[in-house]
Amino acid sequence: MTDNVYSTICPGCNFGCGLYIRENGALEVDFRKSSPTNAGKLCRFGMSLPKFFAPAKSIVDGKETTLEEAAKEATKRILASKGSVAFLSSGNTTSEELLAFQKIAESYLCTGVNFEALPKDTYQTVSVGIPYSDIESAKHIVLFIDPYEQYPLIVRRLLSAKNKGAKITAVWWKDLPLADENIRLNDVSKLHLTKESLIIADFHPFSDAEQVKSVLTLAKNAGAKVTFLKPFANSTGAYILAKDAKQKSLAQLIDDINKGTIKTLFALESDPSALIPSEMLSKLTNLIIQTGQAVSAKANIIVAHEPLYKKKGTLINNEGRAQALGGAGTNGLGALGIIAGTKFDFNALHESVKKAIGITAVDEFTIPKYERPAYGAIQAAPKPMEAKPALIDVYNPFMWFNLADDNDFVELNLNTVRALKLLKGGTLKIKSNGSAVEKKFKVAPVQDNVLLTGRKFGIEKGILTPVEISR
Ligand code: SF4
Repeated sequence: MTDNVYSTICPGCNFGCGLYIRENGALEVDFRKSSPTNAGKLCRFGMSLPKFFAPAKSIVDGKETTLEEAAKEATKRILASKGSVAFLSSGNTTSEELLAFQKIAESYLCTGVNFEALPKDTYQTVSVGIPYSDIESAKHIVLFIDPYEQYPLIVRRLLSAKNKGAKITAVWWKDLPLADENIRLNDVSKLHLTKESLIIADFHPFSDAEQVKSVLTLAKNAGAKVTFLKPFANSTGAYILAKDAKQKSLAQLIDDINKGTIKTLFALESDPSALIPSEMLSKLTNLIIQTGQAVSAKANIIVAHEPLYKKKGTLINNEGRAQALGGAGTNGLGALGIIAGTKFDFNALHESVKKAIGITAVDEFTIPKYERPAYGAIQAAPKPMEAKPALIDVYNPFMWFNLADDNDFVELNLNTVRALKLLKGGTLKIKSNGSAVEKKFKVAPVQDNVLLTGRKFGIEKGILTPVEISR
């Protein structure tokens, strides 16, 4: 038997790493050295892709069925729930599917982020990043992320900049080994920016809008460059294609589910259990998920189609680079057509995608020219952190996709270890709102009163959870 080999893009984040997926009974990952974004390198999530691509099955109320039957049943329930249906997609699929999805979702579209809270003239700056080569040639780089944990492939670009003499400042809860200067978020006034500075932050469903505005303001006041990395493949496509659409924020969606004004949720290639608390999801009459790989949310209907690597279509990475997927599958588009009551033409959608980003052909070696218009002054009021213990989730691809990960510990500093008289090799009790977990800990140069983790423990209230800690 000949192996099927697909030249594709990693779905783990919007960095857009190229790779090959080989089907030879089991799935294997091969390196694609010619990929302009990552030259073949992959982070540990990229290497775990065979686990990520666990196949999905079409299901209606617990019974296995065909994609077509599941899509027809989804259509019935969406029509019966008219006026109380929301549509959620944070990317994770082709731009062609996202355009089709937007047509269905006109009444209530949510791309998972809080655009509502941002001035419209900042959308383009937040949506499309800058070429990674600009990072390598920067003189001063300011990190509002932990690159090792969140977007590991950026580390190579940062090290290359450093080798060329760049200074790196980290504004983070923990000292980062590659930074020449470490500043805590509460001390951001100590940050010295110039026109030569380049700020790297990120933008995702749980981004604090005030913090995003504050980063935009810092960049504007200094004339510095700014780029926002994003956690989901093709988030940039989702944002720029929907920039003129009326969107609801994730917070609004959760509120509307809670109030009962949204009773049916249709999620495209986005596992709502990673974004919406389970007690809210259980309030829905219908949770419908269209997906290419198994999800952990308990859905009434699952419309299962081919995984991303088998799809035909275009992804746009954080630089704005259009990248073609190497598959031929259009089952996902077909299912969206059943739900829309129309037949979507891939070629017509593809032309619209190219037009939207101003290109005539998809060429991963050329980054289209994007306008990044100047934006006006912004009022920002990020909340300073209180001097109480807090558990801070450092979002990473494993966490977003609910994929098992070995890093089951928290990081804390020596002051906290001494104050609590923690024992070497022992554990730490962490309590939040009546729930408690006991976790291993690692000593690291973390801010006082901060526990950092790359895992979800089920007691979180968002990125920052006030907690009580004890031995
Ligand atoms: S950095 Fe992002 S796109 Fe690249 S391999 Fe890791 S998860 Fe995938």
